[in-house]
Amino acid sequence: MVVVMDHHADEKQINAVIRRLEKAGFQIHLSRGVERTIIGAIGDRTRAGDLGLEAMDGVEKVVPILQPFKLASRIFKQEDSVVKVGNLAIGGEIIHIMAGPCAVESREQLLEVAHQVKEAGATILRGGAYKPRTSPYSFQGLEKEGLELLAEARAATGLYIVTEVMDTRAVPLVAEYADILQIGTRNMQNFNLLKEVAAVNKPVLLKRGLSATIEEWLMAAEYIMAGGNHQVILCERGIRSFETYTRNTLDLCAVPVVKHLSHLPVVVDPSHAIGKWRYVPAMARAALAAGADGLLVEVHPNPQEALCDGPQSLTPDNFAAMMADLRKMAAHLGRKLE
Ligand code: PEP
Ligand code: MN
Repeated sequence: MVVVMDHHADEKQINAVIRRLEKAGFQIHLSRGVERTIIGAIGDRTRAGDLGLEAMDGVEKVVPILQPFKLASRIFKQEDSVVKVGNLAIGGEIIHIMAGPCAVESREQLLEVAHQVKEAGATILRGGAYKPRTSPYSFQGLEKEGLELLAEARAATGLYIVTEVMDTRAVPLVAEYADILQIGTRNMQNFNLLKEVAAVNKPVLLKRGLSATIEEWLMAAEYIMAGGNHQVILCERGIRSFETYTRNTLDLCAVPVVKHLSHLPVVVDPSHAIGKWRYVPAMARAALAAGADGLLVEVHPNPQEALCDGPQSLTPDNFAAMMADLRKMAAHLGRKLE
């Protein structure tokens, strides 16, 4: 529930409410807005009725959060959350573009594409060192060596790094190298993994599960937040549908819905959604129009030779052309690209 304090409420009154809630076993999250202070309380709601909160001095109203997700809910926190990645702010005025290859394949490949996406205006480099492949015979990623190459690309370009962690055992190592930990679609409901990244003080990019409802997706975010890590960025990457011509179906409806239900930033991955490079720019534009705070896009210096997801990867030239279009579009939306 949230306790909305009257705008005249003083410190003594705020503290009295907090003490009463804490005594009843609630976990407190205080939010001091310009207008008023809001006290978020997470715990057993059945006990709230006996607390007499509404009768306390300085309390305007007590609002129950009826949705199963609480910390992720817009009722809990009204202002948009901005997730800091170094000196970048995800969820602010600037739309951040995360770009790079599906997988880190070699030093040459990664450094070449890192410089190219940086040149075109990306601020974050993507690249998998651990790849969740459908077939066990497909390239599985360079693992630690891949992480080291990502760190080298960061040092060479100043780009921040987003990379996937697939396994609880790999969390400490990936967290040593990554600026953003990516939870892939296949792991959205790997609750042990969610709890593990919740214990790390680094932003988490949480991809929507292949067949996850919006509520299940927000509950996965709730796991990370309940574990103490509020730096969650949601990523819509397409869901399974009956359509086979495209790889998945990009659910752009989810963008405004999630932004209404939650205060968390939302980015869109048009590459995994549509699965064919030719259509990626159109869906990238649509994502910005729908209100996305950023994009995750696959770019490969030579898509025909890619070890993973070549058909959906843009060439650096096509990426640069798309960025020029998006920059113009962002201006119309009252936002900016780097
Ligand atoms: C990826 O980003 O390379 C990836 C594997 O994405 P997803 O988990 O959305 O399939
Ligand atoms: Mn991929």
